[in-house]
Amino acid sequence: MVCPANTPDSDHYDVVVLGGAFSGSSLGLLLKRERPDLRVLIIEKSTKFDRKVGESTSEVAGCFLTRVLGLGNHLAGKHFQKHGLRLWFNNPGNDCPSHCSEIGPYSQARFPTFQLDREILDQHLLDESAKEGCEVVRPATIKSFGLEGVGKNTVTYQQDGETRTVTAKWVADCSGKAALIARKRGTLQALEGHPVHSMWVRFRNVRCLDSPEARKMGLKPGPFVARASATNHLMGRGWWCWIIPLSNGDFSAGVTWDERLFTPPSEGQIGQRVKEHLVTHPIGKLMFENAEPIENDARAYKNLPYYSSEVCGDGWISMGDAAGFMDPLYSQGLDYCAHGTYAAHRLILRSLAGECVKECIVKHDFQYRQSYQRWFKSLYLNKYQYLGDSELMRAAFLLDLATYFVGPVQLVYKDTDKEFAHMPYFGPIGGGFAKFMAFYNRRLEVIARKRLAKGTYGKLNVDHSYFLRKSFEGSPLAFGHLIRGARTWLKLEIQNMFTKPVTNFADTGKGETRCESMDHPMMPMSLPNPPMAAKTSKATLEVAK
Ligand SMILES: Cc1cc2nc3c(=O)[nH]c(=O)nc-3n(C[C@H](O)[C@H](O)[C@H](O)COP(=O)(O)OP(=O)(O)OC[C@H]3O[C@@H](n4cnc5c(N)ncnc54)[C@H](O)[C@@H]3O)c2cc1C
Repeated sequence: MVCPANTPDSDHYDVVVLGGAFSGSSLGLLLKRERPDLRVLIIEKSTKFDRKVGESTSEVAGCFLTRVLGLGNHLAGKHFQKHGLRLWFNNPGNDCPSHCSEIGPYSQARFPTFQLDREILDQHLLDESAKEGCEVVRPATIKSFGLEGVGKNTVTYQQDGETRTVTAKWVADCSGKAALIARKRGTLQALEGHPVHSMWVRFRNVRCLDSPEARKMGLKPGPFVARASATNHLMGRGWWCWIIPLSNGDFSAGVTWDERLFTPPSEGQIGQRVKEHLVTHPIGKLMFENAEPIENDARAYKNLPYYSSEVCGDGWISMGDAAGFMDPLYSQGLDYCAHGTYAAHRLILRSLAGECVKECIVKHDFQYRQSYQRWFKSLYLNKYQYLGDSELMRAAFLLDLATYFVGPVQLVYKDTDKEFAHMPYFGPIGGGFAKFMAFYNRRLEVIARKRLAKGTYGKLNVDHSYFLRKSFEGSPLAFGHLIRGARTWLKLEIQNMFTKPVTNFADTGKGETRCESMDHPMMPMSLPNPPMAAKTSKATLEVAK
């Protein structure tokens, strides 16, 4: 069946979008702003968006939200301005917050970034896309769809007990972890080598890090910037916790861990378990000892990273979490949603303008998989080994953030249209950076094992704070941080040159090895989205070579 010309009441659409949260609404907005004549249908299952995680944006997503989507006013009024990332370390024996080593910026951030309440943002985006002329059906459940090629696709959904089938030139999958197209095509893959899980909850009655009470409890004033406006991370070997302030006064807090190295509390409700772990850290105790978890706002996900080995084809494309997800450590989920959505809107517009996009489809599909693999190896492969050591993390913090600012941040601000239209780590230069990053990441992990063998892992986790006096810039100035990071890394290489690392990844260096397959507790049965097909596809292996 070929779609006839679209008329306002017909069942024929140019684009049908599956899922209307961040990726779906952004895509609708981008398409309609450029081609108001298009018929775009957004099908959203929920009656009301949930607050997701309580998200922190990085600078690339900040650029997308402000420059591309033009949401500056909304963000300034309804969300919390974010000022950087702060990492807090500790060692057993210390329970005073002011002795915890701290890494973070000294002053306010130079680029717009936000602590988002996703319930508010997603609703605003969906409203905006409806204002631009997208047709929104909600709540509506997608019953089936057929991907038969541009103009021949069908989508059947149910709303208020009625079933409707529409045809679409393009189908865009923005259904998040539901990953409707990838599941149907059997292309969803678990990422091997990164067994990372997470649980989180929203809290009320959290004590602010900049409050007089915090001072009374011993936390000394440090940097110029309000500490509470940062995304604060508590760090440990094999785990980290995020603490994110939300605009209504609640806080989002969660723990993410690598099952090979760490087991979080396993008894009770999610909120209690998160709190039990948070208060083991002096900064967590300062903030959360009187906090109340909002239990109906809690989630736990097993096996966070996954991807689809195919993200687009003739007349269909997946983006955002429907294409894949990696790890929330550096808050880059929305960066990937932004790139994917922008690239998809360019591709769809070219196709609807009558261009042959066969080559673009192959290119984007390859680029996505390449980007995902490079992203994994450059930032996350075995990283949880050294998260709990402040010196190693100081090197990683400087190197990871400097490469981010020299690369993606600088690029999206310089040439927004061109840079958002492809995925991160693109081309030979992106590949070169990815290799360099993968190299130092590998080395830092080896040094961590050497320090475990020597008993010096976490040596400077108390009383050694490191504040960045110069902010990160999306310009060659970020090279200064790169050099400082490389110097810290080389110093650690030299200090540990003659030490043999412990050989087992999970070895503590004290004659103990965690055997996670035995002591990792089962997560509750209610966990959404259990792991998918475990094998890596041929296509992915080709990219990974
Ligand atoms: C623990 C954790 C922490 C994170 N922290 C951050 C962070 O700090 N910063 C950051 O940038 N990112 C973070 N992320 C990632 C971020 O949450 C996601 O990348 C982002 O929410 C993806 O948006 P999306 O629109 O693609 O998908 P979603 O937000 O999941 O939206 C999918 C939509 O599709 C709808 N849908 C699903 N199935 C159907 C169906 N059958 N029919 C119709 N509609 C359907 C759903 O109702 C939903 O509204 C984190 C993720 C996790 C797991």
